[in-house]
Amino acid sequence: LLDIQAVRKSFPKPDGGELLVLEGVDLKLQEGEIVGLLGRSGSGKSTLLRLIAGLSFPAAGSISYLGQAVTEPPSGIAMVFQSFALFPWLTVHENVEIGLEALGLPREEIHRRSLEAIDLIGLDGFESAYPRELSGGMRQRVGFARALVVNPNILLMDEPFSALDVLTAETLRTDFLDLWSEGQLPIKGVILVTHNIEEAVLMCDRILVFGSNPGRILNDIRVDLPQPRDRLDPGFRDLVE
Ligand code: ATP
Ligand code: MG
Repeated sequence: LLDIQAVRKSFPKPDGGELLVLEGVDLKLQEGEIVGLLGRSGSGKSTLLRLIAGLSFPAAGSISYLGQAVTEPPSGIAMVFQSFALFPWLTVHENVEIGLEALGLPREEIHRRSLEAIDLIGLDGFESAYPRELSGGMRQRVGFARALVVNPNILLMDEPFSALDVLTAETLRTDFLDLWSEGQLPIKGVILVTHNIEEAVLMCDRILVFGSNPGRILNDIRVDLPQPRDRLDPGFRDLVE
């Protein structure tokens, strides 16, 4: 799905120098994989996601998605953020529709698809609510719906559960893995940035460990466990329900 080779990225420093953030980063995302990115704060994980999403460009190296170099934000790659990034003045339904508006689809199709995404992610009945009326977990569900509504091939997640309390985070992870294992999601691959090692082991097929100064991949660990869904604690649902 994604082939990243020898990527380097730096930012200008206020004193005129350059801050080298990523150096020699290689990453391949295969169809059906959830790949985790772990690493210290400032090691360049979010920067790498922005490069993949075409929101910023590498100084050297290459990023290709489905065999094409990424030179602008590609359709087919969607993102979920730690801070949810919802528009407070828009309803749930409108926040999700935003994801589709840029695609220039007919009004009715935008309406229908966004309702389907809302339903899929467990927000049925909350279409007209505003973000301030929702719990953090529900807000992040809106974040997921907005990302999934475009039927992306790749979902990039930047610490999507870290702003949630532990039980809410676990519920969202479980629901996500259920949908993923049942083949109900449009996505074919996931990159998950997290500081939570347990979460990485639970959710990922592979974990890349980033070193810092500059960020480079130090370790590529295959998680040799059953399918993600079967790693879940079966007693968990009883606990939260
Ligand atoms: P965290 O775990 O805290 O989210 P991270 O691994 O995601 O950290 P990045 O946000 O990618 O780290 O930042 C890596 C480095 O690049 C930091 O030193 C940051 O200050 C710098 N940086 C990121 N974006 C920019 C930018 N637009 N301009 C200048 N410097 C930037
Ligand atoms: Mg980050």
